[in-house]
Amino acid sequence: MLQDRWKDEQGRVTVGISSCLLGEEVRYDGGHKYNQIIVDTLSEYFRFVPFCPEVDIGLGIPREPIQLIDDGDTTRCVGTKTTSLDVTERLSSSADSQKEWQKDIFGYILKKGSPSCGMEQVKLLQDGRVERFGVGVYANRMMQNFPLLPVVEEGHLGDTALRESFIQRVFVYRRWEQLCQSGLSWASLAGFHTLHQPILMSHDQAVTLSIGYELSESAVTDVDVYAAGYITRVMSILKNP
Ligand code: SF4
Repeated sequence: MLQDRWKDEQGRVTVGISSCLLGEEVRYDGGHKYNQIIVDTLSEYFRFVPFCPEVDIGLGIPREPIQLIDDGDTTRCVGTKTTSLDVTERLSSSADSQKEWQKDIFGYILKKGSPSCGMEQVKLLQDGRVERFGVGVYANRMMQNFPLLPVVEEGHLGDTALRESFIQRVFVYRRWEQLCQSGLSWASLAGFHTLHQPILMSHDQAVTLSIGYELSESAVTDVDVYAAGYITRVMSILKNP
């Protein structure tokens, strides 16, 4: 549990990250995927909580690589040599068992292409062909557990616009969590929207104006019900370049 949920002593926001991106030697071959941009640029804003699901489930270092395969009904995560080594449920359970610290983070940086950590376009074997529309098993479950959490793959962080977009989403999400903790009301929700209106307008003017109109008509519905849909739309708008 963090001492201060909102920031550390240096004012940095807490973000989860695939351990290998920080240089931890946890990959199947005993190596790492140290990412200079993350360490040099983003550690100014973020305090990282590293986590490796494959180590967590006891696969060891080094280990047999794993891959995603489509078995006709579901996607399984199995050994590249030992197909009886099926770690699908264990990786999913690993994500569930991390919820306690993950409810105190405001973003997550994932390793691209990993059958465990990849958030999209992961190599998937289907009928003997290699497709690229798999999602890492751990990442998939973690994103289901925290659907609003800003998530990015490290490959996108080299792009200035995508990097800034991720930083922006993390800070907006943290302010939203702070608002929810201090108590939602129509007035506080309207204040939140007014504060973020310039940012939201820069991403999607039409939706931002439509939300502003809805808020002016606020009394017609329950604030908690409206707020759930509101923040989903806001986080979605912020993903637009
Ligand atoms: S499971 Fe995730 S954190 Fe661990 S080595 Fe693979 S990509 Fe990195």
